[in-house]
Formats: sequence, C-alpha cells, structure tokens
Amino acid sequence: MTPREIQKILNRLYPHPEIPLHHTSPYTLLIAVLLSAQCTDERVNKVTPALFARASTPEEMVELTPDEIQALIRTCGLSRTKSRAIWKLSKQLIEKHKGKVPASFAALEALPGVGHKTASVVMIQAFGRSAFPVDTHIHRCAKRWGLSNGKSVEQTEKDLKKLFPKKNWKKLHLQIIYFARNYCTARGHHIDECPICRPRD
Ligand code: SF4
Repeated sequence: MTPREIQKILNRLYPHPEIPLHHTSPYTLLIAVLLSAQCTDERVNKVTPALFARASTPEEMVELTPDEIQALIRTCGLSRTKSRAIWKLSKQLIEKHKGKVPASFAALEALPGVGHKTASVVMIQAFGRSAFPVDTHIHRCAKRWGLSNGKSVEQTEKDLKKLFPKKNWKKLHLQIIYFARNYCTARGHHIDECPICRPRD
C-alpha cells in the first residue's frame, strides 16, 4: 500500500483526530507530554487535573517542592524522575525564557526531561511548527507498512517526513497513533479485520 493510500484510509477512519492529552497552554501540554513517557494518556489525564489545579504555570510549579509534585503524579510511573524534571524545567523556563515555553527545538530539548519526541509534539501541536513526532506506535506501524526499516525512531522520522507532505504531519502523527492503538498493537493484529493490510479481493 502506498503512503497516499494509507493516508486516505486514515482520513476516513480519523477525520478529525484530537490530541489525547488534556491541556490548556503550551506549558500544560509540555508537562502532560513529559508525564506520558511510559504511561498511558488516560492515566496522564487522570493526574493532570489535580496537578494543574495546584500549578498550571512555571511560576506556580516552582512554588511546590519536587516531593509535592511527585505526590500529585505518583500513579504515572517514574514519578520521582518526572517530578524533579518538572520542577527543574519550570525553574529554567522562568530563568531563561521569561516563564514561557520556547518555540525552538534546541531550547526545548535543552530542558530537563525533554527529548526530541516531546519537543516535536509541543512544536507542532502548540506552535504549529513543522514536526513529525515519532513514538513507539508510529515506529511500529511504519515498519509494518514497509515505510521504514524500523532500525531507529530517528530513521523512521526521516523516512516518514520524505513520504508524506508536510501539511499533513500534524494530523497524520495523531491518526497513526490512534490506528496503532486500535488495530496495529504491539501484541498482535488481525489481518482480516485490518483496513490497511487486509487482503483485497
Ligand atoms: S494488518 Fe496488521 S500490520 Fe498491517 S496495518 Fe493492519 S494491524 Fe498493522
């Protein structure tokens, strides 16, 4: 199946994909994406209301101690590491970026706890900049669809960027994540039920 055909099917299945992490600003999006590492979006959405009720800006976050942040995000996993990263990155935002989330890959990736994927989500979803965030779901689908060799997420990102028009990246990365979760899971798949690989008559 060609990238164009895949895109057509994804547009039919998920015409208006919404970002699954609840947020109200670039800062709350950044925190939610950081929390989503090795944690489900559902779990993140359960903890962020209480966290953001206490602190929805960097200034409010540094008023909490890392231990208080940890207590609020405990069920997310890696809570000790994540709470420290959240506190430190909030402090850096205040000291280096006037309390604002910077719209730059280099500046985002210099923040504690922020890798390229997290920066990509913030760049494309909060700032509308061109990015193609590749997580494990997208990496897996790209390999199964024969669009990339699956050696690394970096290579998958490069390959997908060449295959799909830039204007579609924002929608497409969410569509592939939804598809991967619903049909193309890591545990297995039902080829007869699959709208993409299902054998055609
Ligand atoms: S058949 Fe399997 S590998 Fe192919 S897209 Fe469907 S779920 Fe994924």
